[in-house]
Amino acid sequence: MQFIDLKKQYQALRDPINERIQAVLEHGQYIMGPEVRELESRLEAYTGAKHCVTAASGTEALLISLMALGIKPGDEVITTPFTFVATAEVIVLLGATPVFVDVEPDTGNMDASLVEALITPRTRAIMPVSLYGQPADMDAINAIASRHGNIPVIEDAAQSFGATYKGCKSCNLSTIGCTSFFPSKPLGCYGDGGAIFTNDDALAQACREIRVHGQSKRYVHTRIGVGGRMDTLQCAIVLAKLERFDWEIKQRLAIGQRYNELFDQRGLRRIAQRADRSSVFAQYTVLVDDREALQARLQGAGIPTAVHYPVPLNEQPAYHHCKGALTPVAGSLAKQVMSLPMGADLDAADQVAIATLVVLGLGLHGQYRSRR
Ligand SMILES: *Cc1c(COP(=O)(O)O)cnc(C)c1O
Repeated sequence: MQFIDLKKQYQALRDPINERIQAVLEHGQYIMGPEVRELESRLEAYTGAKHCVTAASGTEALLISLMALGIKPGDEVITTPFTFVATAEVIVLLGATPVFVDVEPDTGNMDASLVEALITPRTRAIMPVSLYGQPADMDAINAIASRHGNIPVIEDAAQSFGATYKGCKSCNLSTIGCTSFFPSKPLGCYGDGGAIFTNDDALAQACREIRVHGQSKRYVHTRIGVGGRMDTLQCAIVLAKLERFDWEIKQRLAIGQRYNELFDQRGLRRIAQRADRSSVFAQYTVLVDDREALQARLQGAGIPTAVHYPVPLNEQPAYHHCKGALTPVAGSLAKQVMSLPMGADLDAADQVAIATLVVLGLGLHGQYRSRR
């Protein structure tokens, strides 16, 4: 069994993917070819955001966004420590300081009620993460940001492309949204890729320029930029994957809900889903004690698991200098979270087998019958 089955996905999309790749090989515009803009407009329509700017990766999308906002040494950016390192890394790269705020115990997302206490005159941005594919409480965070002089809010939506919050699409919930097309994300390419979304014309223009070395015209460098383009072939692959994306989202939801039911019956703790938003289940994550023993047991039965994330960023050696409050909830979640195989192509019988082994491994007793 695979943690995420990308082979099955390719088999289902072989023709459109091959045709799209072939078309790029024929026209030969490998950098900023027509597929780049085509993908950006498709994703603008999908999210409802006015602008989409593709980037070399999710990390690069975050970095370019912070550069477009003018984040500089001495600035503070409030973010969560319970995330992939890239979220805080880009802040430090610009000489700014991550200020870590604790997370909600049931979702693992930024706890909006703790944000206000960390705002100082140096706060230049707030960067929540829509963890495991479920949007953070963006309305509450946006409200705090606007009360404090319209602090920009960047949603790290690397895991949540396709999710919704109160009827709006993730990536289009705040000043800027950034996603990733890393192969294992809900919408992935076959290498690195990412995208920035905003409704702000000036910010979009800044991102477009920063992405190509701060160039406003060929060899006119208006700003300091980076080499941050997404290449044409990767855009072509995402375009092909969009053909089945709505179906994949429905599948992920159904599979996530089936896991919920299977585990709720047995009283197993899991990441909660809020009623006003939908998760794309980038990860399906349960909370367990004695995680290592359970992982070993599942591994022995051929079931791969993963831990997102074992150590909060404020406890990482390179991030000890950062600021913020104590984050006991992130620390405790980091010890308990365990993600199970998840993906649109996960077979229903396999899913029941996984749930059964988890339940037995935890001594919760009993076997499920496949509903097929
Ligand atoms: C994957 C991920 C990133 C980075 O995306 P890349 O495309 O791998 O650079 C950033 N933040 C979060 C929360 C992620 O899950």
